[in-house]
Amino acid sequence: MLSQTTAFDAMQARLRAAAELFGLEDAVFKVLLTPNRCVIVSLPVHMDDGRWEVFTGFRVQHNMARGPSKGGIRYDPGVTLDEIKAGAAWNTWKTAVVDVPFGGGKGGIICDPSTLSMGELERLTRRYTAEVMDLIGPDRDVPGIDMGTNAQTMAWVLDTYSMHLRETANGVVTGKPVGLGGSLGRTEATGRGVLISAREAMQRLGKPLAGATFAVQGFGNVGSQSARLLHEAGARMVAVSDRRGAIRNDRGIDVHALIKHHQEARTVVGFKGAEPMDPAELLLMSVDLLVPAATDNVITEANAAKVRAKVVVEGANGPTAPEADPILLSNGVLVVPDILANAGGVTVSYFEWVQNRIGFYWREREVNERLVEYMTHAFAAVFATTDKYKTNPRIGAYILALGRVSQAMRYRGFYA
Ligand code: GLU
Repeated sequence: MLSQTTAFDAMQARLRAAAELFGLEDAVFKVLLTPNRCVIVSLPVHMDDGRWEVFTGFRVQHNMARGPSKGGIRYDPGVTLDEIKAGAAWNTWKTAVVDVPFGGGKGGIICDPSTLSMGELERLTRRYTAEVMDLIGPDRDVPGIDMGTNAQTMAWVLDTYSMHLRETANGVVTGKPVGLGGSLGRTEATGRGVLISAREAMQRLGKPLAGATFAVQGFGNVGSQSARLLHEAGARMVAVSDRRGAIRNDRGIDVHALIKHHQEARTVVGFKGAEPMDPAELLLMSVDLLVPAATDNVITEANAAKVRAKVVVEGANGPTAPEADPILLSNGVLVVPDILANAGGVTVSYFEWVQNRIGFYWREREVNERLVEYMTHAFAAVFATTDKYKTNPRIGAYILALGRVSQAMRYRGFYA
């Protein structure tokens, strides 16, 4: 990676630019520049072979002016406090962009879940939950799924928290299994948000989504669900990559067949309906839609000028470095920024939390219809703000979020 900018630096750079354009007062700006609370915990875990390992976990709460903090727990060997701080701040902006009553949080554990047994993962998750017990809660801070965690992880968090509390508190986490308070439609929610963003963006260009070409970087939950839903909407996937490599087929890749292949091979590499390609080239292909859905900092100063996609829909958090923004803008690439494009996940998490609180569960069609309503509304608001401030959609999204967060902060005032 050429850029030395960390994820948190990248967040602060955008916040600074948006605050200046918006004319945000200094006191509010200073508060938002750093997270409210960062907690580091040590997690002793009894391993299957009898050894004890001590893992490091984090929980960061960036801002709670609009409601309890919300954000996923990430299990990955590359987790850093800086990345979790950035994630917490992004969730402050994301929840404000889609206008759900949450603040921003994020958690993580430095570990490689692919090398841990189910028993080890369970003990690690339960110890982490016990350590952050006082921080989380349906009205405090509500964790959810993220890279390396899933519905089972959330079920363990729910159980540990509820055991300590001596009551069932299923609103403490989202992304739970359906049948344990999880919401229908949560698994595909982030991908569905990407689909809605892609459709709205194409409409802005006066083009239908059906027949559009697209390339996807990453084939985890967000990448694969986005690919499937775009494919089902009639768009044509011409390339896709994961950690192991990339494949292309200009005539179109059958996404359903690829998902089957991926379930067995654990990679897109080796899929028979496509040719291998250089993963770095995928980002530079001439397609209608490019969906970076892997990690942060992949479109940088070094390659931004060569991006030929008409639209970039940011499925991942932070895929574009701050220096790349003006380059994409001057080349006429329409970027649907992460804090809008991937906010479908946190939106359905909000629906899940609402259903837990009222104890009444919605049909999948209701979840999906409400998601369309929230996302299209947010999309229109972001682009109206972008036009009003004559800026790019990312800064437009930040200004929209800043307006909502700072208003809540002004109402509450500073407790000093
Ligand atoms: N994984 C997403 C994030 O942290 C969504 C988490 C949630 O649903 O709370 O940004």
